[in-house]
Amino acid sequence: GPLLEGVVTSSTGSWYDVQVGDRTIPSRMRGKFRLTRQDVTNPIAVGDRVTLRVADEDQTGFITDIHERTNKLSRRAAGPREGQEHVLVANVDRIWSVQAVRRPALNPRFLDRLLVGAAAQDVPAGLIINKIDLMTQDDLPDVMDLHLRYADLGYPVLATSATEELGLDRLRDAFDGQVNAITGPSGAGKSTLLNALEPDLELRTGSVSSTTEKGTHTTTHAELHALSDDSYVVDTPGVREFGVRDVHPKDLAHYFPDLSPYVNACQFPDCTHDHEPNCAVKAAVERGDVHAERHESYLAILESLREEQAPEY
Ligand code: GDP
Ligand code: ZN
Repeated sequence: GPLLEGVVTSSTGSWYDVQVGDRTIPSRMRGKFRLTRQDVTNPIAVGDRVTLRVADEDQTGFITDIHERTNKLSRRAAGPREGQEHVLVANVDRIWSVQAVRRPALNPRFLDRLLVGAAAQDVPAGLIINKIDLMTQDDLPDVMDLHLRYADLGYPVLATSATEELGLDRLRDAFDGQVNAITGPSGAGKSTLLNALEPDLELRTGSVSSTTEKGTHTTTHAELHALSDDSYVVDTPGVREFGVRDVHPKDLAHYFPDLSPYVNACQFPDCTHDHEPNCAVKAAVERGDVHAERHESYLAILESLREEQAPEY
């Protein structure tokens, strides 16, 4: 059969669905990929662009080549495969953090952690503020502040109501021609948003009170949903932990585009921008040039990284 090129949209670990134009071709991979990649649990991930040969008999594919990735969202595997890398999705054009105006409340700390993880994995990020139908006069200053803060940092920011179908055209435009990952706290409205964009997806939506157990992330199989020929969206719960753990505490400020311009002006070259005197980052916070909540997020992540990997730092 002929050689074709396509995108992996789902995986069972032994079979892969590969989208080629508007066809989906169930495919297998050659054993060599597994043999040469002992360091990863899945040598081929959702989002991978592959070359495949289609068998004339049954029209199934055989993956002969995996194309070089632009980036990937991955985490360290748990359990028996501990130490190996698990790639959740490859070639991500943007990861979007969905935050609700309320139920659950806006959580800049959560968002900042996601932004650091995304930056550490070379994945551009954006913000979707959902449930704007629930916004009251009292919420307005916080919502505006959040919107402007992240737009000023260069992240695309969109406001939506999944249930009232507000802002969906702009969301569709923003997703167009891209592989989009979406993440965010449970209950923020991710599944409802995706169903509103593409009713055929029929994703399960939960109630706000249902919580995601930490351990369930390991069993999640990401699936790339096609919104059109060249627009995809993948739900990536738990992704805020991806990438962050591998950031060294001394590099953390570089993943905050608002803090990083100041770090070379601190008195001490190894300044952690925490307790040190003559810290240019803290001075910028005091002047109001850096948002205090961003500095607080930085300190909170710094603390967690110290605990996890470098207690002496
Ligand atoms: P997920 O956990 O992020 O996937 O959240 P779901 O999509 O399951 O939504 C959680 C709850 O929020 C459901 O009861 C939805 O109906 C509700 N919800 C989602 N989007 C909106 C919205 O824009 N406005 C309002 N009022 N409720 C929403
Ligand atoms: Zn400093």
